[in-house]
Amino acid sequence: IRSSASPRRPPGSAEGAGLSVLVTGAAGFVGTHCALALRRRGDGVVGIDNFNSYYDPSLKKARRALLGSHGVFVVEGDVNDGRLLAKLFDVVPFTHVLHLAAQAGVRYAMENPASYVHSNVAGLVSLLEACKDADPQPAVVWASSSSVYGLNDRVPFSEAHRTDRPASLYAATKKAGEEITHTYNHIYGLSVTGLRFFTVYGPWGRPDMAYFSFTRNILQGKPITVYRGRDHVDLARDFTYIDDIVRGCLASLDTAGRSTGTGGKKRGPAPYRIFNLGNTSPVTVPTLVAILERYLRVKAKKNVIEMPGNGDVPYTHANISLAREQLGYKPTTSLEMGLKKFVRWYLSYYGYNRGTHTFRNS
Ligand code: NAD
Repeated sequence: IRSSASPRRPPGSAEGAGLSVLVTGAAGFVGTHCALALRRRGDGVVGIDNFNSYYDPSLKKARRALLGSHGVFVVEGDVNDGRLLAKLFDVVPFTHVLHLAAQAGVRYAMENPASYVHSNVAGLVSLLEACKDADPQPAVVWASSSSVYGLNDRVPFSEAHRTDRPASLYAATKKAGEEITHTYNHIYGLSVTGLRFFTVYGPWGRPDMAYFSFTRNILQGKPITVYRGRDHVDLARDFTYIDDIVRGCLASLDTAGRSTGTGGKKRGPAPYRIFNLGNTSPVTVPTLVAILERYLRVKAKKNVIEMPGNGDVPYTHANISLAREQLGYKPTTSLEMGLKKFVRWYLSYYGYNRGTHTFRNS
């Protein structure tokens, strides 16, 4: 651990000048990409992940192997384990924490609500406790979600819009996370940046997300279920490519400013920020399917049904003015381009043979 994390970054220095970052959820989709990007520019990175089985554990292990081959060590552990976190902070004087560990997915909340409370509420508090007790206190950048906008009908969503109508338990835990982090900011002087990601997709993605599961089913000739909103309106999402999200995360770390407390005591006001990280151009789900069909060269068997009230919202659309202004955030990847990269990765990762329609790796 000592060798892969660098000492404190000089204030105001250029990117890659020696951040020392604890990435939680490092074996996850966004965590893997962020940890790799930090490592590539020369920052010190240690990951932690509990490798839960919400989706294919072998994909998480493959991501861990990829990280390992780039010198990023991932500790297997739960963010609820305060003793483990304290030990990590003892060994490494982390300047920053990028907190991405969470129970993701809106629909699974109906099956396993406790997992959302465990990771997104209790786990977040456990992590913040460790951060506030650490000396030096790290700056915290963490993943909230566009889901906090819930059933908002004012679009595009900007950070000042109401977030008091969550449509799922997942959204409610992210909203709770924003309140909890704000509390740690003003009581303990923790520097906090919350990032509201909008539907992130790309290589090494999450198999539970529509673009990923559609790809699998289309290639296997199985039907896909496409939800439609009331009055036959198509669902639309502000799909955001992973590389754009990574740039937003790194810019947030670089501009986070210092925490002002130490050993649980606040010494002055610390920054508290919230940013949307989206793409600003929503695309309907049927359009997403059409793009996939083109790249996969297979027609989808579509089962179109009305959206059951299971936590999904009909529409998301980010206003990113604040992130553009303060982080220099500028998404550059269209859904067409991003899906092309995703499909290329998918076919290669699973060893798909176009001739025999079979997969070498299941
Ligand atoms: P992911 O599920 O791939 O990654 C989360 C990782 O956290 C997983 O590897 C999981 O094993 C780990 N984890 C979960 N609970 C843990 C715990 N208690 N202790 C330690 N590790 C734990 O999800 P992702 O898509 O990479 O999402 C990263 C973050 O971004 C999450 O906070 C998610 O809620 C948020 N987010 C993602 C999206 C998206 O579209 N991918 C959109 C909005 C917000």
